[in-house]
Amino acid sequence: MLREELLELQKKEVELLRLNTKIKELEEEKNELIEELDSIESKILSAKRKLEEKEEKLKELKDFIEYKKERIEELKKQKESVKNREEFKKILRLIAKNEDEIIKTKQQITGVETEVEALRDAYEKVKAQFIAEKEKLEEEIKDLEKEIEIVKKKREKVLSEIESIKSQIPEEELKKFEEYKNKFNGLVFADISSGSCEGCGMTYSSVEYREILKNLKPGESKCPYCGRFIYSKKSVVKC
Ligand SMILES: [Zn+2]
Repeated sequence: MLREELLELQKKEVELLRLNTKIKELEEEKNELIEELDSIESKILSAKRKLEEKEEKLKELKDFIEYKKERIEELKKQKESVKNREEFKKILRLIAKNEDEIIKTKQQITGVETEVEALRDAYEKVKAQFIAEKEKLEEEIKDLEKEIEIVKKKREKVLSEIESIKSQIPEEELKKFEEYKNKFNGLVFADISSGSCEGCGMTYSSVEYREILKNLKPGESKCPYCGRFIYSKKSVVKC
């Protein structure tokens, strides 16, 4: 014999399992969306980085020209105070060399500027392409988080209900219930309102079913096939 409160406890424990599964599913769904969002963000970021690297390269080339210009100015000043013709010629050669380098760098800059423009276009395109998708994903993630919160609150409630039921049942009986749970794969009380046992699946003959319903006492009656305690979800008209 088992007290009827244990049926209530079983229902709450089944509910708890259902809620745990639900939370797990929602969290998995959320993680998938986060991965999708990450991949979109990394696409945008990678386009941005490529652009920034090229811009940096452009800046280096421009700085190099500035440096070379300063160098030429210095050489021109030195030229004013040379002592001999040999030194004068050497300075002129250096000035020409620096001017050459400036010309070459300017050509390089033209190429890099074209690349920067292409990369900027690519970055803008990637942003435009993914921005709507990104916002949609963020919205979906937020909705999932809200749903998870709600289910977690429900779980809190069920957990405290389980505690409250348990606190009203003597330790010995809880222990017995746990033993039955092990024996019956978690389902100690089986509903028979469909005409068959929810636990073992056996369908009763109509004569047998009528007889079972007639004498049905939750916590006392057992399924003749599997031995689980049986009850009926529907309010049964006794014959
Ligand atoms: Zn059964």
